[in-house]
Amino acid sequence: MVRRTNNNIDKTLDKISRSKETPKSAFILLMLLYGISMFLTMRTASAQGTVNFAGTEVNYSAFTGVFSALGNICIITLVIQFRRVGYIVSLILLVLQFPMMFISVFVRGNMGAISGFFSNILILGAVSIIYFSYRKILRYQYSVREQAITDRLTGLPNRFASCELMQDLIRRNERFAIVSIDLNDFKSINDTMGHDIGDKVLIEVARRWKELANSLTTDTIDFIARNTGDEYLLVISEFASEEDVEKTIDAYKTELEKKLTIDDFDLYLTACFGYSMCPDDSAVIDSVLLYADAALHEVKKTGNGSRVLKFTQDILNTERSLEIERKIRAALEEDTIFFHLQPQYDMNHRLRGFEALARMKDNDGSYISPVDFIPVAEKTGLVDRIDMCVFRKAMDFLDSISDYDSGVMLSVNVSVKHLMKNNFIEEVKNIIDTHNVAPERIEIEITESIMIDSAEKALERIDEVKSLGMKIAIDDFGTGYSSLSYLNSFPSDLLKIDKAFIDMMDQNDSSKKYVSMIISIGHVLDLKVISEGVESPEQIVVLKKIGCDYIQGFVWGKPMPPEEAEQLVVENKKEEATAY
Ligand code: C2E
Ligand code: MG
Ligand code: MG
Repeated sequence: MVRRTNNNIDKTLDKISRSKETPKSAFILLMLLYGISMFLTMRTASAQGTVNFAGTEVNYSAFTGVFSALGNICIITLVIQFRRVGYIVSLILLVLQFPMMFISVFVRGNMGAISGFFSNILILGAVSIIYFSYRKILRYQYSVREQAITDRLTGLPNRFASCELMQDLIRRNERFAIVSIDLNDFKSINDTMGHDIGDKVLIEVARRWKELANSLTTDTIDFIARNTGDEYLLVISEFASEEDVEKTIDAYKTELEKKLTIDDFDLYLTACFGYSMCPDDSAVIDSVLLYADAALHEVKKTGNGSRVLKFTQDILNTERSLEIERKIRAALEEDTIFFHLQPQYDMNHRLRGFEALARMKDNDGSYISPVDFIPVAEKTGLVDRIDMCVFRKAMDFLDSISDYDSGVMLSVNVSVKHLMKNNFIEEVKNIIDTHNVAPERIEIEITESIMIDSAEKALERIDEVKSLGMKIAIDDFGTGYSSLSYLNSFPSDLLKIDKAFIDMMDQNDSSKKYVSMIISIGHVLDLKVISEGVESPEQIVVLKKIGCDYIQGFVWGKPMPPEEAEQLVVENKKEEATAY
């Protein structure tokens, strides 16, 4: 394509662009079609007689022009699709017809062939014009493409070119490694020695690595490109094992670490290398690139010197966790964590209360699920602040609806770790004291794990919560392994059956029996039981039959903003008033 040189990288780029050329089968098809149309042109030109065409008798010779035009279209398509080869073949085909036409006109006296003679000359002119103008366009296209795939400073292929190569490797089902490389301390070279020297360093590194890639001295086929700034990309293919990949990366590392002299300055460079494998890690280019970058960022965190790291899923989890942690800290700082309220009903669809569920928005306005941010908050010790933020705002809500005298309950989730902190009771008490709320209307939801992990201390803490007048709910019940004796000694008020068991009820009878058993145990222990995640009317029917007390689920209400919840309280109050 662009530049035909003897080196590996340019050859690879050539190969990529050639793979997009028209297939050879199209050439054969065009030739065949041309042959048939020429044969039919000659046959119809000399044929006598007529054919019935849509009710009219038409001379065979009337079709001669049609087949001749079809032949010309084949010739023009050959030139457009196969350029030089197509043009030469077209010339041969057209020129070869002249002797036949000459014989036809001057020897056999067939004057009708004169029109074919002129049409051949015209078509010769036309394909020549098409070919030469098309060549100009192609040359221009090539130069634009060359600019699009080349990095201006170093002359290496750029990120776009390496993506094209990867696309091609994926198309051919080839396994490859993508290595993201970042020079260490390049910023200080720029800052202390100036950008000119910085540029020369980048050019020299590119030259060395390009030479290595083209030397074919590694056991792999390598393609080096410049990404941005001091970042390079290396695509390694045709290796027998991952060991070969590591060896190749090592070769690039060694090449880089050799002394570099620029404008009389001796420099010793190092870099970090993060790599991922395609299709092992992913078969999507954006993802493998992202994974290689994630491995690079991870290895950069561990200090200076040359280091190599292969991508693993753990790296991604760490990256995502760090990102979420940053977002939680910002949201707490700006007090943008808020909550939604999901209604809970008794079996006759009368409002029992609401569960407050924490909500956090991403920069683009989408929600980050609490399933993602609560575990991170628990790990980083930020969950106390989230719990308290939701608790405080939920109390504002309870306070605001106190005028309706609705009697609704308000459940708030509290992480076990938070509950166990010494200042928990004091924090909660302070908030309650500054609001006009009745503690009996507040329910603290804690997960079942509390009974297993820290039973003794937890019991004390729960007693303190209860002494303030608040209620206790055991959340996600059934997912842990708490024993009956724990449950018996636990002064809770409500069991919340986890959605997983409600889902399973639809599938088999034994799950129905299991849920029925939890409800019975709850009742024996004098607890109320609520089913979480109820999504269908059929589930409600079953739950009614097996004696469930309350329902919380999308079937009767999704989590909603406090304004809508307030509206629901008002409507519920009106309905109650008309019922009496
Ligand atoms: P959870 O306490 O068990 O809350 C119930 C979850 O089930 C909520 O998810 C709710 O939206 C969802 N849900 C309820 N009904 C249905 C249903 O019919 N279908 C489906 N598919 N889902 C339903 P959400 O809001 O994503 O909360 C997830 C978990 O995050 C909560 O589970 C809770 O463990 C935790 N969480 C939420 N807010 C807080 C908080 O303020 N503090 C703490 N520590 N944890 C919280
Ligand atoms: Mg809950
Ligand atoms: Mg739950």
